[in-house]
Amino acid sequence: MEEKTFGKDFVWGAATSALQTEGSLNADGRGESVWDQVYLKDGPGDESYKKIDEDIALLKELGVKAYRFSLSWTRLFPEGTGSLNRKGADFYLHLVKDLLADGIEPYVTLFHWDYPLALELKGGWLNKDSPLWFEEYARGVGRLFNGLVKNYLTINEPQCFLGMGHYEGSVPPYHQYRDKDLAKVIHNVLLGSGLAVRALRAASSLDLKIMMANTYLPSFPANPANPDDIEAARLAYLSPKFNHALFSVSLFADPAFLGRYDRRWLSHLNIDIPYSESDMKIIQADYDYFGINIYSGYKVVSKKGQPALVPTPDAPHNYLNWEIHPEALYYGPKYLFERYRKPIFITENGTCCGDKIEEGLVHDLNRMEYLRDYLRMLGKVIKEGTPVAGYFYWSLLDNFEWNNGYRPRFGLVFVDYEKGARRLPKDSFFYFKKVIASDGGEILKDQD
Ligand code: BGC
Repeated sequence: MEEKTFGKDFVWGAATSALQTEGSLNADGRGESVWDQVYLKDGPGDESYKKIDEDIALLKELGVKAYRFSLSWTRLFPEGTGSLNRKGADFYLHLVKDLLADGIEPYVTLFHWDYPLALELKGGWLNKDSPLWFEEYARGVGRLFNGLVKNYLTINEPQCFLGMGHYEGSVPPYHQYRDKDLAKVIHNVLLGSGLAVRALRAASSLDLKIMMANTYLPSFPANPANPDDIEAARLAYLSPKFNHALFSVSLFADPAFLGRYDRRWLSHLNIDIPYSESDMKIIQADYDYFGINIYSGYKVVSKKGQPALVPTPDAPHNYLNWEIHPEALYYGPKYLFERYRKPIFITENGTCCGDKIEEGLVHDLNRMEYLRDYLRMLGKVIKEGTPVAGYFYWSLLDNFEWNNGYRPRFGLVFVDYEKGARRLPKDSFFYFKKVIASDGGEILKDQD
């Protein structure tokens, strides 16, 4: 029998986020978020707020050990701060309790980009009180789920919601901050996340496991047998030369895990982030895992001791034209563990295709191959000694892909938007089910 790569305790899961799946934006007292107007242009969406029992049943059938979902901040606190909206709270309590009853561990993300409009109108993350607002929200959530939820993620991808929404200005809330303002939002988000860690722990009687979900593109060596290329890849992912906008892991993870800002990135962005020692103590919170979302990567070669990009136009591409590089799930965790020394959690990985229903079925062979190839790489790095605690496929369902609407389909489950958001598990759903049931053994089949 093949030696097992993933242990019995490995956490297999699937992920979604509130704004991307829930719908019912005006139901039961939910307050408006900065993304609502964009979302409403494309409507009606997955309707998970109404179909949550169906989604839980799908998770159960899939056999996942964990479900990562986010809370709509304004469903719980319509104005961002202030009193709890009972109906919103009941919705999430129902979800959490039903998951637990089915043996599925909830992994709750506090903030996955749908920022309360009421707080945005007060300056959002630029306001000096924004970390305190987030702390208050986290405390409310911690109290609500006390005794039930053990796993939390504070913030999803500061690289993206700050990079696109507060630097490039391409998504809500459409800011193009520079200089001092840019420095402030970066610092406030990290401070808010650190305060949230403390607030959650203080509000819960359980031993919580908390992480933040960062993202980046791992660099990998052109020739994996050449030590110079390996060293080049180890340098490249940290360099502003290979990363656009704020798409940097070290910009956010160095302060959160190493207790200092990455000077190289600050000078690249032409900013300084002055901070007090007490702030940095909060920012360097005791996160339990290094949560990382990995989709793609890029190849580098060593040229005179320096990394140089190797274009890979022949690599397969997903529906959004992102290159597919399974190596990213080997070198990503490996280099991150070397630098940050925390067990890794793959908080998102997946692909989008132009899936179609054919005679009542969805044959997404490309997603199955993606899963197999990426998981083989993850298995390899685990075998070689990098601690990886779990893996969440993004996403359980096809959903609202932000500025790209509903055409890129990331789900293991097809959502038929023409037919009242009817759910239809794709072939990859059954494949992933086998992967989970075999503790990953399924991906090793037919290995050349
Ligand atoms: C985000 C998800 C998004 C996915 C695919 C991540 O950046 O966390 O919300 O749908 O990638 O783009």
